[in-house]
Amino acid sequence: MPTNPLVKVENVSKRFRVRGRELHAVSNVSFEIEAGKTFGLVGESGSGKSTLGRLVLRLLDANEGRITFNGKDITNLPNRQLRPLRQEMQIIFQDPQASMSPRMTIGRAIEDAMEIHKIGTKQSRRKRVDELLERVGLPSFVKYAFPHELSGGQLQRIGIARALSLNPKLIVCDEPVSALDVSIQVQVIHLLQELQRDLNLTYIFIAHNLAVVEYLSDEIAVLYLGEVVEQAPAEKLFKNPSHPYTQVLLQSILKIPEDPSSRQKMTHIQGEIPSPFNPPSGCTFHPRCPFATDVCRTQKPVAKHVDDDHKATCHLIG
Ligand code: SF4
Repeated sequence: MPTNPLVKVENVSKRFRVRGRELHAVSNVSFEIEAGKTFGLVGESGSGKSTLGRLVLRLLDANEGRITFNGKDITNLPNRQLRPLRQEMQIIFQDPQASMSPRMTIGRAIEDAMEIHKIGTKQSRRKRVDELLERVGLPSFVKYAFPHELSGGQLQRIGIARALSLNPKLIVCDEPVSALDVSIQVQVIHLLQELQRDLNLTYIFIAHNLAVVEYLSDEIAVLYLGEVVEQAPAEKLFKNPSHPYTQVLLQSILKIPEDPSSRQKMTHIQGEIPSPFNPPSGCTFHPRCPFATDVCRTQKPVAKHVDDDHKATCHLIG
């Protein structure tokens, strides 16, 4: 555990009421992230990973638990006190175009956040737009373009430039490469790595694909129906996946073979993710788990240590 983490999430839960029914989106999640590191959140859609990212940024309020940013408890911080901290906590979306006005030029879109936060003069902000475009590998004339004139990869670079414009410490990257072609994904991931190294950025990297988080993350939490089922340093998680859900997620990744004649056995997770309105009894993964026994159907497993810094929540462990 880092001694002085930039982000500390302690026993955080979030529930939504939808048409009179309660949905448990995130349940009792805890983790810490050291400055300059990447924490990967992985799971199928509906696992609660995006909700968790938004809870950390205080775009959503937690029902229970505590969130600390840079040593300050922000869980219930009023908006006025939260405002200066918002500059330090930014987000990159899967679809950056959705958060941009189609009638605003790219230059205006990048300048916008700086203006809202009253950073610099008009002249210094325009200079900063040029610097940011160069930083994300785009020519200066792109500032005159409109969002619909750019490719998906270029737009994601603009999304990154907008996030950087406020000099953040933390960026939540919410599926930032999922909608891009594989070759563009690699370029964007390399850019994020380069920026992290140069600016000591801290990332929460959200993805449904373990292969993508493996590449960037120092530590990974695997989420299933709003609960962390396994958490470990990235290397340990890939070397010794201990929860059956993580194991199946890993078996569904296409790996580059060392021997071109070798064949990889691909496994896909059985069934659909259950409804979060009515999660299964006992271990919520039991209807899809190839190792489920009677005890799994009735008793909820608790997190157990596989190693000092590696935990998994399964009756088979320990
Ligand atoms: Fe599978 Fe049982 Fe472990 Fe759940 S507790 S993951 S059902 S073996």
